[in-house]
Amino acid sequence: MLGIQMVVPEVQDWNDLISKAKSRECDVVSQINASEERQSFLDFTTPYFYLPLAVVTRYDRIFVEESLEGAGTQFAVIKGDIAIDKLRQRYPGVVLVEVKNNIQAMELVYAGDVFGYIGAQGAVAFAIQSLNLNKLAVTGSLPLRYELSVATRNDEPLLGSAFEKAVLHLDPKEGQSIRDKWIAITIEKVTDYTLLWLTLLVLGTVLIVSLYWNRHLAQANKKIRDTLNDLHEVQAQLENQNRMFKRQSITDALTEIYNRLKLDEDLSYAIKRSKRTKSEFSIILLDIDNFKLVNDHFGHLVGDEVLKSFASLLVSSIRKSDIVGRWGGEEFLIICPDTDLQGCENLAEQIRKRIAEHEFPEKRVLNASLGVAVHQQDENADTMIARVDKALYRAKKHGRNRVEVDRGGEHQRLESK
Ligand code: GH3
Ligand code: MG
Ligand code: MG
Repeated sequence: MLGIQMVVPEVQDWNDLISKAKSRECDVVSQINASEERQSFLDFTTPYFYLPLAVVTRYDRIFVEESLEGAGTQFAVIKGDIAIDKLRQRYPGVVLVEVKNNIQAMELVYAGDVFGYIGAQGAVAFAIQSLNLNKLAVTGSLPLRYELSVATRNDEPLLGSAFEKAVLHLDPKEGQSIRDKWIAITIEKVTDYTLLWLTLLVLGTVLIVSLYWNRHLAQANKKIRDTLNDLHEVQAQLENQNRMFKRQSITDALTEIYNRLKLDEDLSYAIKRSKRTKSEFSIILLDIDNFKLVNDHFGHLVGDEVLKSFASLLVSSIRKSDIVGRWGGEEFLIICPDTDLQGCENLAEQIRKRIAEHEFPEKRVLNASLGVAVHQQDENADTMIARVDKALYRAKKHGRNRVEVDRGGEHQRLESK
């Protein structure tokens, strides 16, 4: 732009450049941040190029801006770098290790002696590339920047104004293209996979444990189901057995009608019920006449058969609500709920007739004597049975094949008269 021929002097590093500028061995510095000290020997144009401060770390270190705010973290900076003041102001806690040049800075980072190296973005990227330190990378940039101007020796003010004009004529787009050409860097994104691996590990463990647990539960469930099925089967068997035992315990083995135990129970129940409902109930005690003769003539087995068919005859002769059972030997008891003395006497008479008309095994004709009694207020089972037994005894005494009724106190009073 100026039509002046430029000669680039050989410089070793930044500090060498500054000292050459001071001693007038170098007339122009193309990109430099102004500072009070530098203004004693250099003139500065308006800044035309801005360069963020970048951070170089090892790949295995994660840089976040907070690491500058917490005290104690060490960063290398180049001695005399204008950025040192800016960094000290903004991050008072950070420890800045001043080194001679960027090679030294990189070596410290590489060795792990400092956490990172802070320098101009383009410069650090260039240094990494030229040193071929493949373990280092630009892993962050700071909200601080170099504001770069062209500096000229201040004893040549004309040179300064010429550059000032040139800088003001710079198209901002041109600035951009300079940046792109010389500082093609990308900030390396170093991702911390530790958390991801840890999460995966935890998830994996949870998955494996839950899979294992699910399998375990499924097996346990199956076991429980099988055991429950077995238990249900056993329970059903037990219930069947119980029903059988219960039936056996209340059934007379020979005649298969109720036995004495059941009759005792039912009689007690009938007494309680009659008390509660104030209803009448009656009983019939029945004894086969001269049954000994059957056994004597035809033997015990025929006697048994006769007893069986006698029981069937009784069952078919009573109402559904009546209860019949074998009281013992060739004696039977019939309980007739909601039946008064007259009704029961009629039933006893009917039964007597049916027996007399029935043909038993071996063409036997049999008779029976029957006693009848109605339940009296506040009477217990024993006295009621004693009364009906007395009536039966009377039927035997008065010639058998007949019905006798116990009329309770009334009868006794008549008899005593
Ligand atoms: P009565 O008219 O006075 O009642 O005369 P009975 O012969 O019927 O009475 P007794 O008490 O003298 O005889 C009852 C008979 O019943 C005697 C006994 O052997 C018989 N007996 C009792 N239980 C059974 C039984 O289960 N099977 C058979 N075959 N006989 C029985
Ligand atoms: Mg008898
Ligand atoms: Mg008898």
